Amino acid sequence: MSALRLILADQLSASISSLESLGAEDTVMLCEVMEEAGYVPHHPKKIAFLFAAMRHFAAELTARGVHVRYIKLDDPANTGSFSGEVQRAVAELRPNSLIVTEPGEYRVLEMMKSWQYELSVPVEILTDTRFLATHDQFAAWAADKKQLRMEFFYREMRRQYGILMDADGKPTGGEWNYDKENRKPPKASMTSPPRIAHKKSAITREVLSLVKDRFSHHFGTLEPFHYALTRAEALIELDHFITHCLPCFGDFQDAMVAGEPYLYHSLISSYLNAGLLLPLEVCLRAEAAYRAGNAPLNAVEGFIRQILGWREYIRGVYWHFMPEYGERNVLNATRALPDFYWGAPTQMFCIAESVRHTRDHAYSHHIQRLMITGNFALLAGLDVKAVQEWYLAVYSDAYEWVEMPNTLGMALFGDGGVVASKPYAASGKYIHRMSNYCKQCKYDPDEVTGENACPFNALYWDFLVRHEDKFRGNQRMPYVFSTWDKFAPEKQQAIRAQAAATLQKIAEGRL
Ligand SMILES: Cc1cc2nc3c(=O)[nH]c(=O)nc-3n(C[C@H](O)[C@H](O)[C@H](O)COP(=O)(O)OP(=O)(O)OC[C@H]3O[C@@H](n4cnc5c(N)ncnc54)[C@H](O)[C@@H]3O)c2cc1C
Ligand code: SF4
Repeated sequence: MSALRLILADQLSASISSLESLGAEDTVMLCEVMEEAGYVPHHPKKIAFLFAAMRHFAAELTARGVHVRYIKLDDPANTGSFSGEVQRAVAELRPNSLIVTEPGEYRVLEMMKSWQYELSVPVEILTDTRFLATHDQFAAWAADKKQLRMEFFYREMRRQYGILMDADGKPTGGEWNYDKENRKPPKASMTSPPRIAHKKSAITREVLSLVKDRFSHHFGTLEPFHYALTRAEALIELDHFITHCLPCFGDFQDAMVAGEPYLYHSLISSYLNAGLLLPLEVCLRAEAAYRAGNAPLNAVEGFIRQILGWREYIRGVYWHFMPEYGERNVLNATRALPDFYWGAPTQMFCIAESVRHTRDHAYSHHIQRLMITGNFALLAGLDVKAVQEWYLAVYSDAYEWVEMPNTLGMALFGDGGVVASKPYAASGKYIHRMSNYCKQCKYDPDEVTGENACPFNALYWDFLVRHEDKFRGNQRMPYVFSTWDKFAPEKQQAIRAQAAATLQKIAEGRL
């Protein structure tokens, strides 16, 4: 009996379910296919990271004596699609079965299900046990809830895994959530700890050359390229974060500083999502740092909440509501994505800086994604599909299961309030408080109307008034509409005219 075991680019874990009970006669297949590399214009660093990590993973399996079938992108026989490659492998190897772990994308799951009818061998689709909540568990939790708030899901997860829990069943420190302490603005001349630049192997150099040849026309710079590409390197990244960054992670989690893309963030999402790190081990490492007195509780709880709470919850939402979720657009946002998302000049410093970080690193941190590029897209009513495609393409950690609920739900409120209980809409005042961007901007965050007024300000009010029917009754927004109501009619008119002029400028590429 021999099995063909297919490993996808985000399944690079030795402990993945599709490699359990691996037999000596089995073949493990990995393939670089154009259909996946090109269905959105992925950032060249993202493609290079995944191909190089796949090739290193394959080399590690081969060194263990496993039969590996690795199909490179430029292999002349490469059919360019998963289905084509699976069919070719089945025809050539004549395995008794095809074994895969469920993918991270609904589209690919449907494709795998179709193989059950198209191939001449049985197809086994296994559960992805690397995640900490199963689909059934999420569905059972969601079943009796009117609102699916992450905070309550997170508490269940803390209890289930006993993380940051005391012997009496109470949360360590007495509170479940220390977010109040995690909103400090940046300090003057704040810089982040140095980051690791991993050495390039021959495999990596070959991949970089391939990506340069084939994908240079995609948005984003390929080099310098410093990503971790093996589990051993990803563990070095994790150690570095726990030792040098975690202690300040909480305090400055929401801060933004010009020229500092990383601050105290972990940079591990790409490694977690590709399988080089596992979520439980990461949470346990952070908890151990707290127990050893090496990091404060607000930082450790805040960090663990992102992984045990947000990451699992977001995945739960995706699978619970797909495929209908992907078609939602409750605010009817349809405006074309401005060219400045793809690097065209803009005078808004905050946007230009966030896009620069994205272009250079295939990374920007959560608050830049949510409160700068996401917030602008929300306020300006940018097309939800175009915005989602942008986020999916430009970040090296982006896969639909995690990108979609974050973009459509959290940033754009396009899911009608499943993920967010109120829109994450903010004016320039928030950005001014949490960053040093506005000092370097042509626009003035204190001005709402006039030539130099920060575009976020009028757009903020205009957004709320445009969607008044949806938000006036929202119990989490009691002061916003009462403030608007207190503005004189002339002021209200001037703000709305300013917003209309700003939207016109976006269309004309003049912002
Ligand atoms: C519009 C938008 C799109 C996003 N798209 C993605 C995406 O495609 N892939 C992705 O992994 N994250 C996405 N996020 C969540 C978050 O921004 C990134 O996980 C984070 O910025 C990655 O950087 P880091 O590893 O330094 O994270 P840290 O700030 O150090 O956080 C630690 C870890 O927590 C997890 N995490 C934190 N927040 C979230 C979240 N909201 N959802 C899921 N996991 C979370 C990540 O695994 C992250 O590595 C998105 C957020 C927004 C607002
Ligand atoms: S003034 Fe407005 S546009 Fe300029 S950086 Fe600040 S928030 Fe951004």
